[in-house]
Amino acid sequence: MSIIDNALEANQKYSKRHDPKLAERPAPKVAVVTCMDPRLSNLPEILGLPHADIDVIRTGGPAVTEDVLGELVVSTQVLGTTEIMLLNHTGCGFTTFTDDELNAKLAAKTGESSPAPMRFFAYKDPEKNAREQIEKVRSHPWISKEIPVRGFVFDMKTGLLSEVDAVRKQATA
Ligand SMILES: [Zn+2]
Repeated sequence: MSIIDNALEANQKYSKRHDPKLAERPAPKVAVVTCMDPRLSNLPEILGLPHADIDVIRTGGPAVTEDVLGELVVSTQVLGTTEIMLLNHTGCGFTTFTDDELNAKLAAKTGESSPAPMRFFAYKDPEKNAREQIEKVRSHPWISKEIPVRGFVFDMKTGLLSEVDAVRKQATA
């Protein structure tokens, strides 16, 4: 059986203890943008918050793409989250290549090139990444200036979060 087939079987058992209240409208309190890395999946424990309070948006890196900005707009304007956390981490796979390198590698591996060079949003420094993310999120007119946007790096070895300062603490008020 495949992993997914096993998961479907497990889901049958899970449904018996599923809380039907989850069918109600979600009311998350904080939006967290983090990496697709599975080591960051246990956010309720890492952050000490209930599952229901965290609106999790995940991309590789993480990268704050146009899509992520759209999700943050929905999270804050529609779902009602009141703070945004940009959660980077050490040891990210996206620091181990550049976009050009991976495009070249995959073209060679598959014998096919992508219709356009693919954007993987590879980066080198998680702190710099976090600062750029803050600037990007902060500059969007549909994300209220009243919403705190804070960037962090999660240390995979210690499990500790350290906050990075935005380049400009105060945007032009
Ligand atoms: Zn990562």
